[in-house]
Amino acid sequence: MASGLTLPQVTTRAIVLRRIPFGETSWILHTLTEDDGPMGILAKGARRKGSPLASALEPLTVSEMVVSVRPGRELQNLVNASPLSAHEGLSIDLERHATALACSEVALRFLRESGPVPPVFRELSMALDHLHEGRPCRAVHHRFLASFAEELGWGLAMDHCAQCGNPDVLQSHSVSSSAGGVLCPACARASHVDQLPRDTWELLRAAVLDLPTPGADGGDWDRVEDVLYDHICRHAGGRPRLDALEFLRTARA
Ligand SMILES: [Zn+2]
Repeated sequence: MASGLTLPQVTTRAIVLRRIPFGETSWILHTLTEDDGPMGILAKGARRKGSPLASALEPLTVSEMVVSVRPGRELQNLVNASPLSAHEGLSIDLERHATALACSEVALRFLRESGPVPPVFRELSMALDHLHEGRPCRAVHHRFLASFAEELGWGLAMDHCAQCGNPDVLQSHSVSSSAGGVLCPACARASHVDQLPRDTWELLRAAVLDLPTPGADGGDWDRVEDVLYDHICRHAGGRPRLDALEFLRTARA
């Protein structure tokens, strides 16, 4: 292709999920853009001291980016960026910061296909806002996981048996990640799936249905987290390395 050809530029909101130094002065950015989904972007010269782009390219920042796009190219070229929400509240608390990284990692690892996913962008952006505002980390994290699954068409079934479709599941607290949701008593017995303790069930239900988090003293948050991650991994067809999740679990300990 002839050099000097002007490529189309797109302007989109984007979240920096991860960045890797490139050469002496540049970044490779792994971003989730609102309009075009996951996008690899080369930010030439942005690591130079005093770069006006520096604050817009911090991880977990939502920025407006202008990108020169050539379809099919692995990395697009950053033209300009300005920060919209820096989420500086994340940096003052380790668990908040680690939870934000874990949410970003879900978008990074499980959104393999490119293409627009505006609802996922909005859910991640909202999770970062909520963590920045100091809302409870566990509830924000779990709600993000549940909504992420839902937006990709993998929502956990909660109002009917995920295996046989029986709507009589009100009293059932048995959840199967492989079936994709709650099981009626007969299917739960047949599949040897135990009931979740009531408090734990309520935590999961709140995350999936976006209800206020119940008083959760007795609920097992770790169990809920495992159910949601197992569910996403099954739909994604594998369990990638989740370093940020490991970091979060260490940070909580
Ligand atoms: Zn059933």
